[in-house]
Amino acid sequence: MKSHYRAVVIGGGVVGTSVLYHLAKFGWTDVCLIERSVLTAGSSWHAAGGFHALNADPNIASLQAYTIDLLSEIEQESGQSVGMHMTGGMTLAGTPDRWEWLQSAYRTFQSIGIDDCRLITPEEAGDLCPIMSTDGILGGMWADREGYVDTTGTVHAYAGAAKKRGAEVIEHNRVLELVQTKDGWDVVTEKGTIHTEHVVNAAGLWAKQVGRMAGVELPVSPLNHHYLISDTIPELEQLDFEVPMTVDLEGFTYMRQDQKGLLLGIYEIDHEHWMMDGAPWEYGFELQQEDTDRIERELTLGFERYPALQEVGVKTWVNGAFTFAPDGNPLVGPVRGKPGYWCACGVMAGFLQGGGVGKSLAEWIIHGEPEADVFGMDVARFGPFAENKQYIRETTGQFYTRRFVMTYPNEQLPAGRPLKKAPAYSDMTAAGCRWGVSYGLEIPLYFAPSAAFVETPTLKRSNAFDIVAAECKAVRTAVGLLDISGFSRFEVSGDGVEAWLNTIMASTLPKPGRARLAPMLSEQGRLKGDLTVFNWGDGTWWIMGSYYLREWHKRWFEDHSGADVAVTDLSDATVGFSLSGPNSLRVLEKLTDGAIADLPFMGCGVFDIGMLRVKVGRLSVSGELGYEIHCAATEHITLRDTLLAAGADCGMREVGFSALLSLRLEKSFGIWSTEFTQGYSAAQTGMDRWIDWDKGDFIGRDAAQKEHNSGGPGQVVVTLEVDALDADASGYEPVWNGDKRVGFVTSGGYGHTVGKSLALAMVDRDVASEGTALSVHIVGLERPAKVIAPSPYDPTGQAMRGR
Ligand SMILES: Cc1cc2nc3c(=O)[nH]c(=O)nc-3n(C[C@H](O)[C@H](O)[C@H](O)COP(=O)(O)OP(=O)(O)OC[C@H]3O[C@@H](n4cnc5c(N)ncnc54)[C@H](O)[C@@H]3O)c2cc1C
Repeated sequence: MKSHYRAVVIGGGVVGTSVLYHLAKFGWTDVCLIERSVLTAGSSWHAAGGFHALNADPNIASLQAYTIDLLSEIEQESGQSVGMHMTGGMTLAGTPDRWEWLQSAYRTFQSIGIDDCRLITPEEAGDLCPIMSTDGILGGMWADREGYVDTTGTVHAYAGAAKKRGAEVIEHNRVLELVQTKDGWDVVTEKGTIHTEHVVNAAGLWAKQVGRMAGVELPVSPLNHHYLISDTIPELEQLDFEVPMTVDLEGFTYMRQDQKGLLLGIYEIDHEHWMMDGAPWEYGFELQQEDTDRIERELTLGFERYPALQEVGVKTWVNGAFTFAPDGNPLVGPVRGKPGYWCACGVMAGFLQGGGVGKSLAEWIIHGEPEADVFGMDVARFGPFAENKQYIRETTGQFYTRRFVMTYPNEQLPAGRPLKKAPAYSDMTAAGCRWGVSYGLEIPLYFAPSAAFVETPTLKRSNAFDIVAAECKAVRTAVGLLDISGFSRFEVSGDGVEAWLNTIMASTLPKPGRARLAPMLSEQGRLKGDLTVFNWGDGTWWIMGSYYLREWHKRWFEDHSGADVAVTDLSDATVGFSLSGPNSLRVLEKLTDGAIADLPFMGCGVFDIGMLRVKVGRLSVSGELGYEIHCAATEHITLRDTLLAAGADCGMREVGFSALLSLRLEKSFGIWSTEFTQGYSAAQTGMDRWIDWDKGDFIGRDAAQKEHNSGGPGQVVVTLEVDALDADASGYEPVWNGDKRVGFVTSGGYGHTVGKSLALAMVDRDVASEGTALSVHIVGLERPAKVIAPSPYDPTGQAMRGR
C-alpha cells in the first residue's frame, strides 16, 4: 500500500471492483481498492447472480445491457471465470394490464436498441421452461441475453482485470476515517493513511457509515431478501438444457436453475428493513435466519408455478441484506460540497448494474461527466429532505414491496408523502386538488369535481381525461390559476454576477426588467439546464428551473462558482401562482394600479397585487398570455385568495400540471427530462436557437460550435400527430418509417384544445420534414403518425406574445 493514490475505492464488492476496473481501463492506473475483509464480504457473496434486461428507466436498462456484454470481457481479461450461464430469460405477465405493459416494455427496448427480445405465448413459455406451470400466464417477453453468473468469480474477475491494468487491491484493511484536505482526502485505514484526490464510497451494506465519515447522510437502507435452493429435481436431470432465468411478476418470484435444482428468489410483500444505520463492522459472511411465515404467500405462488418444488426439499435458505435508495435506483456521482467524494452505492442489483455504474462513475471522475444520461441514478436527484430516517424507511420499503407490482403511469404512490407542502395545500385540497410529488414537494395535478372521484390506474387515457380537458379549455378561453411553488428559484447577486452568468449560460443575458430562456451546457456541449434567467433591474438576478433539479443544479453552480457572486436557493422560501389565458391581464388589472398592461412578453418587475408586493414575470408555458407571480411562502394563501376573488367573474379555474403538460405539447414546447436531458446537445433539441454565438466564451461553447459548424446532429426533435385510439404516447415508444426504426417518442399526450393526440419525437433528420408518414407503437399497438409543423396551437405565437 502506498501513501498516495489518485483515487481510492472503498469496498470490494461487485460495485467497487467494477469502479476500480473502469478507472484502470480508462487510463487511471494509480488507483487502489480498500476492502475491510476479503473481496465479496458484503452483499456480493450471497447474491443469486441473476441478470435480466428489464428496468423501468430506459437509460438504466441500457447500462444493464452494457454490464451483460462486459461480463465476458472481464472474464477474458482477468482469466478468472465468471461462471456465465447465458440461459436466456423470460418475464411473465399474469394479468391483462401487465401483458399490455410488457408489450409496451418490449417496444421501449426496441427504442433503446435492445433487439434481442421477443414476445412469447404461454405455450412457448411452457416449452422453454418445461418444469413451469403456465396457469394464469397471458404472455411473456423472452430475452436472449439473460441468465446468471457465479458471484464470487465475477467480483474476482473485475478485480483481477483491474489489477492486470495496474490497479491495486488491499484486503483486510478497514477504512476508519475520512478527512477532507485542501486538495482531496486523507483515507485513514487500519494499515495507515492514504492521501488521494478522489475517494469512492462503494461500501454497499456499510455505505451509510462511509457516508457519515465524510459528513454525508445518504438516503439508503438495507432490506432483507430471501431465496431458496432446492434439492435435485428429477425432471431437470432429464433435460439436456438449462431452464431460463424466469421472472413471474404476479408471483413475486424469480427463478433460475442451480445445478440440478432450482433457485427461487422472493420479493417480499411484507418487507423487512435490516440495520438502517448500516451493517455492524464485524458482519460479513453471515446470513439472517429465514422467515418462511413472512413470505408464505409468495412461496405458495412460487411452489404452484414450479410444482416440482412441492416434491423435493430445500437444500439451502439464503436470507441476506442488500441496499436500496428510495426509488430503487443506485446512488452514483459526486456529492455537492464534498469535492472529490464520490458515491457508487445503493446498488440493489450489482451483478446487473455494477458494470454500468462503474463505467459511468469512472467517466465522471476522469472526464467530468458520464457518457450516458444517468440522472436516474445520480445521487443529486435527492436533497436533504431524503436524509430523514422515516422517509427512507417508507420509500425504500415501498420500492421493495412493489418491485414486481405493476405501477401505472398515472398512479400516485403514498410512501414518504405528504412531506413538503406549499402553504395553500390545504385550501387547494379542499378545492379538489389531486397531488403528485416532485423532490418531496406536493404539486397539483388537477382539480377533481368531487371528493368521491377516484382516478383509475391505467396505461391508457384515464377517467381524469375530461377534467384535464376542461382545465385546458379554461386556460385557452378564459384564465387558469396554477400553483407554481414547484419551480426552483436561485437568486444571484454580487459584482461578478454578469460575468458569471455569461460564463455558465450559453444565451445572451436579459436586460434590466426582462427575462430570457437560457440553455446551460456542459464542457462537452450537452445540456445542463433549460433555465430562465431574470434580471430584476436592481442588481439581483434569478435563475429559475425545475424544482426536482435543485440539488443537481446547485452542485453544478458550486462546481463552477465565480468571483464575487452569491447564489442563494430561494426555492422553499419563495412560492407563487401563475395566471394564463386571455383574461389573465383583466384579473391583474383589477388588483394593481401598476403598469401591468405595459409589461412586455418576457418582461419582469415588482408589482403590488392586492395587499402583496410581489415579483411578476410575463411568461407562459401554456402558450397563452400569462404571468408568473412570485411571493413569500407566508403570502401564498393570501395570493391565491386574492387572485381567485378577482378572477371569479373572468371564468377563472384552478388548474394543475396535467393540463399544463397538454397545453405545452400543443405548443411543441420541450421540457426537462423528456425533450431536454443531459444526454442531448443543444442542437439536437432546438435549444441552440437560444445560444448567443457572438458573445465571448461560455462553458460548452467549443463543443456546441463544432456541432453547429458540422451541419448539426443526425437526429432532431419533431412534432407528431398520432392516429391514436384510447391511449396516447408517453415516452420512449419507437417511431417507424415502414420497417425501419427512425427514432423514439420523447413525450406525448392528448392535445385537448386542438383535439389531437400529439407526441414530440427524436427522429432521424431525413424523416423530419413536415408531412412525412411514420408510425408509433402505443401500449404495444402500432398506430399511424405524421410529422406536423411545430406548435399545432397558435403557430405564430400571437396569443402568448400579442398585446
Ligand atoms: C439474497 C440476495 C440475492 C441477490 N440476488 C441478486 C441477483 O440475482 N442479481 C443481482 O444483480 N443482485 C442481486 N443481489 C444484490 C447484490 O448482492 C448487490 O446489489 C451487490 O452485492 C451490491 O454490491 P456492492 O459492491 O454495492 O456492495 P457489497 O457487496 O455490500 O460490498 C461492499 C464492500 O465494502 C466493504 N466495506 C464496507 N465498509 C468498508 C470500510 N469502511 N473499509 C473497507 N471496506 C469496506 C465491505 O466489506 C464489502 O465487501 C442480491 C442480494 C441478496 C441479499
